[in-house]
Amino acid sequence: MTATTKALRGAAISIDADPFLREPRDCLTHHEDALTVISDGIVTAFGPYDPAAVRPGVEPERYEGLLCPGFIDAHVHYPQMQVIGAYGTELLEWLTTYTFPAEQSFADDAHAARVAGLFLRELLRAGTTTAVVYCTVHPGSVDAFFAESARFNTRMIAGKVLMDRNAPPALLDTAERGYTESRALIERWHGVGRQLYCVTPRFAPTSTEAQLDAAGALVRETPGVFTQTHLCENRAEIEWVRELFPARESYLDVYAHAGLVGPRSMFGHAIHMHEGDFQTCHDTGAALAFCPTSNLFLGSGLFRLYDAMDPKRPVRVGLGTDVGGGTSLSQLRSLDEAYKVVALSGAKLDAVRGFWLATAGGAEALRLGDRLGRIAPGYEADLVVLDPKATPFMAFRTGYCQSIEELLFALMIMGDDRAIRRTYVAGERVYDRDRPEQFRYP
Ligand SMILES: [Zn+2]
Repeated sequence: MTATTKALRGAAISIDADPFLREPRDCLTHHEDALTVISDGIVTAFGPYDPAAVRPGVEPERYEGLLCPGFIDAHVHYPQMQVIGAYGTELLEWLTTYTFPAEQSFADDAHAARVAGLFLRELLRAGTTTAVVYCTVHPGSVDAFFAESARFNTRMIAGKVLMDRNAPPALLDTAERGYTESRALIERWHGVGRQLYCVTPRFAPTSTEAQLDAAGALVRETPGVFTQTHLCENRAEIEWVRELFPARESYLDVYAHAGLVGPRSMFGHAIHMHEGDFQTCHDTGAALAFCPTSNLFLGSGLFRLYDAMDPKRPVRVGLGTDVGGGTSLSQLRSLDEAYKVVALSGAKLDAVRGFWLATAGGAEALRLGDRLGRIAPGYEADLVVLDPKATPFMAFRTGYCQSIEELLFALMIMGDDRAIRRTYVAGERVYDRDRPEQFRYP
């Protein structure tokens, strides 16, 4: 069998080392004129364009813009697309007023399939090629999501929400049923093609201790499976957890007790954290999802990025949109808001650190840093072409940029889905902004 080989030619960047631990400029790889060679969905060569490196018969495809690793969204709810931009509440009231009614519509498989189709396309339009996704309590919502992801061949991480209390009866399972349904979904999807399963208790208030223990058992029993939940997002939520679990030392300890804190654990938000919580995350390898648009929209608080990233005990952090609490699926929009959240703490988020969080840093947080998040030989060819001239205003502004760092920063402050020209998944151009038929299955 011969390999399918293609090559791309144009400007490119990749953040190849952790800029929170080293000088950011030393972590950035940038080529004004790069050649990226892809064979069977994997990058096989990446470097400055050299005519001698072009294989006969493999004419490089040229692009205008800046090639970058596909974005990784560490926390997002696809069933909440229909409640994004819902007015006037904080977390707990937002759940009962908007989210729980919306999630009930996913009992209908046709609705789930329609929303999953829209969600995948909007992710790709935003340049996101991997996401850690909450479905609903209905197993059919997971099947619909993974089925569509498999059609695009995207590497996605997702799971059925587990809730056995404090939600409308139509959204409740039980500890036993949640376990059985999750196990069946793991067998159907985990490691099938590029799909990966994530055990997904919504958050401590909607699961009994028995259900959290069952979730912990699923994680223990399945090598490579992920787990995700919410942590320390809002003060009223934290107080409620304290009342529900009086025997536990902290919110994080509720999850630790159930065996849910370890590598491949992704905790959404983690705003109101104690030093001991950060230390636990560092010691266990658990990761946090920084979701700035959501944290600002719901008024939840300001994530302490540089405390989390303290080089003395760095915690793995990815960037999440948290739609529908978040306000955009674009990670460029997340970076704009991340900059402002960090600025309010008296620090600054430069472009190299920002793009790290949205690409390789997210991959490291998921323990997939050996195959996702960079442009380098051996990495999966999930790529985007950014367009710094996406609008007349952006073209004007970026015309004044003197350095690649300045250009990236302008992109992260001004950019959105309009700045995504193309998205490649495993080397295939599944989205092209300027093509009549924008989306195409590989
Ligand atoms: Zn969330």
